[in-house]
Amino acid sequence: MAAKGIPEDVLMDNDLIKDLVDVAKDSALLNGVLMRTKETPNSSEVVTYAPFTLFPSPVPKDTFHQALAVQTHYNRLVDKISQDSSFLEEALSTTIKVDDFTGRLFNIYRHVLQEGKTQSIVLGLNRSDYMLDQNGDGSASLKQIEINTIAASFGGLASHTPNVHRHILKVAGRLEDSKRILDNNPSAGLAKGLAKAWELYGSERAVVLYLVEELQRNIFDHRYVENELWKRNIPVIRRQFEDVAKTGFLDQDKRLFVDGREVAIVYFRNGYMPQNYTEQNWEARLMMERSMAVKCPDISTHLAGTKKVQQELARPGVLERFFPGEPDVVDQIRATFAGLYTLDMGPEGDKTVAMALAKPDQFVLKPQREGGGNNLYGAEICQVLEGVKQSTERMAYILMDKVQPRPVHNYLLRLGTPLKLSTCLSELGVFGAYVRHGQDMVLNECAGHLLRTKSDEHSDGGVAAGVAVLDNPLLV
Ligand code: ADP
Ligand code: MG
Repeated sequence: MAAKGIPEDVLMDNDLIKDLVDVAKDSALLNGVLMRTKETPNSSEVVTYAPFTLFPSPVPKDTFHQALAVQTHYNRLVDKISQDSSFLEEALSTTIKVDDFTGRLFNIYRHVLQEGKTQSIVLGLNRSDYMLDQNGDGSASLKQIEINTIAASFGGLASHTPNVHRHILKVAGRLEDSKRILDNNPSAGLAKGLAKAWELYGSERAVVLYLVEELQRNIFDHRYVENELWKRNIPVIRRQFEDVAKTGFLDQDKRLFVDGREVAIVYFRNGYMPQNYTEQNWEARLMMERSMAVKCPDISTHLAGTKKVQQELARPGVLERFFPGEPDVVDQIRATFAGLYTLDMGPEGDKTVAMALAKPDQFVLKPQREGGGNNLYGAEICQVLEGVKQSTERMAYILMDKVQPRPVHNYLLRLGTPLKLSTCLSELGVFGAYVRHGQDMVLNECAGHLLRTKSDEHSDGGVAAGVAVLDNPLLV
């Protein structure tokens, strides 16, 4: 147990824990930390608490503030990459040869580039995820796992979890700890970005279109941000790719209409996995990208969030290219990079293969996928690499140093899962929001944070995948 976290004697007091679990679940419901059920994902008749930890998890204060402080730099970096077509072409040139999904996204990107840019308002809502790597001396270093530039979720629910943990800690007799739980309001921060872009679009009737999945268990997370928009009298509609395909069209000025409503912003909460796309959906995506609607994200910003781009950014000199004359910014960003290695054909990639096969437990092998559950660890790395190491198929992956955070004991509360003390690892996410109008960054903010925690039995997977649960940092 880390210093100044929740003491073991509290964690082992079974009677107290049983009481606290009841209190915790009621508090989650009262505070609106909610999810629909697996059985009825498209109805709010019966809902449950979103999975969360019984206790907040210790996070060193300095590292936490470091993560918040670097966010506006990451916002600028993503935005700069999205405007640099020669960098994107080069960085993704090998990936798109062997990865169909990235290839299809890239075709849309090329199409839009050739047609000429249509919308000068750019809206980015992202989440940069980190784990804290243990150093030999007991300190920890902030290491980025990835940056999500599309459909970054849980900002809504994370705005309501602090009150739950504060309450649990008070009932547990730990008033002083409860005061150390920070306020957090990504809902407002993300909505601010959406509202700014909507205002710049400049049509009162035009709507924000949430492009959503077929199964909508996590709707409450969306609703928190959505309701912030309604408060500002900004109309929101929720539609699926199929709806856009059926009723969507562009008028002469390439304004996008869906169900007869002009769309100011398409906010993608879907569209990041191959399974999200039928041929019809690909066409709908292309139409939206070609349109005058603000896209959150646009196709170039989506591509800027790929794992291959992350790996290319870690090469010497690449950050300097994006931030000439700003060595401090370069240093702050680079300090958060874990080791990242190419698997492209050639001597450098061969070296990566040899390194991974020699010490598979020190690495993570990542395909160009989002949404959790796709990465490979340990023996799986060897199995897969042995199969692809001689062929260009290996270029569909990147290799990354495995970050080794310090495990902490906690209870993970999830509907239908028996209560047990788990050894847990946490991942800190920081939300970013920015709006660029032509050449001017008119908004660039850190929009709040998200702590997710999972049992160390799972090496991969997020909250939606049923592995991680919502948490709060207890600064130590
Ligand atoms: P996805 O896009 O599928 O979310 P991530 O890169 O975020 O992919 O990886 C998914 C999960 O795998 C992370 O939430 C984390 O738990 C684990 N993971 C990913 N990269 C690393 C790493 N370098 N070290 C340790 N764990 C990792
Ligand atoms: Mg992730």
